[in-house]
Amino acid sequence: MVALEEAGRSYGSGPHRVHALTGVTTSIAAGELVAVVGPSGSGKSTLLNLIGTLDRPTSGLVVVDGQRVDRLDDRKLSALRAHRIGFVFQQFHLAKGTRAVDNVADGLLYTGMPRRLRRDRAAEALHRVGLDHRLDHRPHQLSGGERQRVAIARAVVGDPAILLADEPTGALDTHSGELVVDLLRELNASGTTVVVITHDNDLARSLPRRLVMRDGQLVDDIRVFTRTQGQNQEPGRTTT
Ligand code: ADP
Ligand code: MG
Repeated sequence: MVALEEAGRSYGSGPHRVHALTGVTTSIAAGELVAVVGPSGSGKSTLLNLIGTLDRPTSGLVVVDGQRVDRLDDRKLSALRAHRIGFVFQQFHLAKGTRAVDNVADGLLYTGMPRRLRRDRAAEALHRVGLDHRLDHRPHQLSGGERQRVAIARAVVGDPAILLADEPTGALDTHSGELVVDLLRELNASGTTVVVITHDNDLARSLPRRLVMRDGQLVDDIRVFTRTQGQNQEPGRTTT
C-alpha cells in the first residue's frame, strides 16, 4: 500500500537547513494497523504527510497505492489523495457552523455526486461512527469526541484505502479517545489500512505494529502478533 525508500524531507537551506526526516525506508501492506510513535519534533507528522502525499520528499522515494509520488503532477496527486486517502487530525478541522451531515458530505465533493446522494452517504457514515442522532448538529454543539467521530466519518465516507490519523486522540479525554481508537480498529477490521500517530504509549502498544521515530529517523519497527488483533496471526498460523 505504501513504500518509502530512503525518504527524506528537509526545510530551508544553508546553516538553517532542518532535516525533519532522513533516510526512512519501510513499507506498509494493505490491511495493516500501524502506530507511529516518538517524541515531539521527531518527524512523525512529516512522515505521515509524505505517506498522505500532502508533501513530497526532498530525497528518496515515496510510493502510495502503487504510484510513485514524484511521477505524479499536482492534479494526479490530488486525485490519488481524494480517492484513496482519508485524513484525521488532532484538531478535527470541521467547517464551523456547518451541520455534521454536511461536513461529512463535503468529503465527497470530489466525486461530483449529487448533493442528495452525498447527504445519504454522509448519514450512513455518521451511522457507522455512532452519530445517527447528531446529523443536524453543528460542531460547536458537539463534544470533542463527537467532533472527532464526525471528522472520521468525513475521512472514510469515500471509502479510502488508507486512513491516516495525526494524534486523533490528542485533544480528547480518555473515554472519548478510547471510542475513537475503537472506531479506528473497526475500520481496520473492515479492510481499511490505518496509520495513526499517537503519544499514548498504552494505545501504541495495543496495536499490531509500531514505527518508532527519533530525530527524523525511523529507529525501530516493532510487530506484535496476537490471536485477536485484526489481520495478524500467530507466526506459523495460516489464513484462508
Ligand atoms: P512531530 O510530528 O514528531 O512532532 P514534525 O514532523 O512535525 O514532528 O517535525 C519534525 C521536525 O521538522 C521538527 O524539528 C520541526 O520543527 C521541523 N519542521 C516541520 N515542519 C517544518 C516547516 N514547515 N519548516 C521548518 N521546519 C519544520
Ligand atoms: Mg506532529
